[in-house]
Amino acid sequence: MDTQMLIGAGFEKGTDAEENILNPKTGETVLHLPEAGLDQIERAVDAAEKAFATWSRTTPAERSGYLLKIADRVEAEAEGFAALEALNCGKPINAVLNDEIPAIVDCYRFFAGAVRCIPGNAAGEYLSGFTSMIRRDPIGIVASIAPWNYPLMMMAWKLAPAIAGGNTVVFKPSEQTPLTALKMAKILADILPEGVVNVVLGRGESVGNALINHPKVNMISITGDVATGKKVLQAAAKSVKRTHLELGGKAPVIVFDDADIDAVVEGVRTFGYYNAGQDCTAACRIYAAPKIHDKLVADLSAAVSTLQYANEDDSVNEIGPLISQRQRDRVASFVERASTMNHMEITAGGKPHEGNGFFYQPTVIAGALQTDEIVRREVFGPVVSVTRFTDVDEAVAWANDSDYGLASSVWTKDVSRAMECAARLQYGCTWINTHFMLCNEMPHGGLKQSGYGKDMSLYALEDYTAVRHVMIAH
Ligand code: NAD
Repeated sequence: MDTQMLIGAGFEKGTDAEENILNPKTGETVLHLPEAGLDQIERAVDAAEKAFATWSRTTPAERSGYLLKIADRVEAEAEGFAALEALNCGKPINAVLNDEIPAIVDCYRFFAGAVRCIPGNAAGEYLSGFTSMIRRDPIGIVASIAPWNYPLMMMAWKLAPAIAGGNTVVFKPSEQTPLTALKMAKILADILPEGVVNVVLGRGESVGNALINHPKVNMISITGDVATGKKVLQAAAKSVKRTHLELGGKAPVIVFDDADIDAVVEGVRTFGYYNAGQDCTAACRIYAAPKIHDKLVADLSAAVSTLQYANEDDSVNEIGPLISQRQRDRVASFVERASTMNHMEITAGGKPHEGNGFFYQPTVIAGALQTDEIVRREVFGPVVSVTRFTDVDEAVAWANDSDYGLASSVWTKDVSRAMECAARLQYGCTWINTHFMLCNEMPHGGLKQSGYGKDMSLYALEDYTAVRHVMIAH
């Protein structure tokens, strides 16, 4: 197992406090990893600065070639990556191998193509006697900070557009899930010129904090909690750094009476609980129309009770555990508080799984009201609430009545109603008769406190490059 950080061309162990890396399926320690010392962070930023001088002058075709090589290596080592991600996050290995790795490989390949055809305004004589043209140039050194829910995928979403755009990066994985980033560091060191990507380990309050406040860092890209995003903005304000924020979510799922109920049940069973609900787009907040409501609660509760987890034979598992005891306690406390309120009923699950690891029973909470905590706050666990609505205006108003604005879905056979709802919903994404589906050509990102950074798609390449105007007098 790779345990060393990548700074410039060299691999080294951190020199500061040790973090306990756990296997969430058992709660056992996998290994201890020391975090980066201040001197190591400094040298990582210096290496990125040195590399920027030459990397930023490479052609799109050259950078594209590097990205394609990275994609090929990840693909070739898919099983090794999947095993590490399964170990460190507790994910079912088939989910990593069949869902995540192909999307990660495709992300590097997408940006390898995209950087060679960045669109822009036409050059021309917008003032008579002068020719103007638009350039898209790199921003500089990017501090990239990732969460624990999809470690390798978040790394791809951050690295691919950043280096495609000609930037250099100091990357910090979550202190809880660094293992795939360390394996990736070996591949990056083999393929990329020295210093283009540096990987440092450590906690948010120490290493993360040093990175976001570093005077030489030009841009901060972070996926994480809203509270962390606010700290990034405060740090960025000191030297006016660019920020790319992907924060939490609380996705509304509006189900009309004419929806295909079997498709809704199957969709929410899958997309409300995937990755044990540790997903900022999870279909966790259902608004059900009056006629479909009771059957939806009954059918969904029955379906959710069949979700497979914590089986010794991992090939049958559909979801894994929560990432930590702390996260499981947090999820349990949301459900406990909901269960003390008479108007709500736990119709599936509702308890921590007995036995090893940080598993929590897939849970459905019926009878939730718009004002309830379970409807308003991000749980980040396998818990879905159901709220009854009376008409379309109420459903849309309640869906929009949230601090978050990342993802939403509408389920109906009526195309006009679907399109009208999609237009009125204040979310970065609205799915119709599906949920959760992503592709590298389309943007992922939010509104409101979900942040404003766009991952994937040409919009991410825009976020990681600066628009410049060059004018020539004739
Ligand atoms: P977190 O905010 O605690 O940590 C995210 C990363 O930020 C970690 O690497 C952490 O070390 C670092 N960090 C924490 N405090 C920091 C600080 N003061 N300075 C610099 N870095 C700091 O979030 P988490 O618990 O790892 O991840 C779960 C959260 O991420 C959820 O709220 C979830 O909704 C959100 N998330 C959002 C998206 C999205 O695309 N919008 C995707 C995945 C996760």
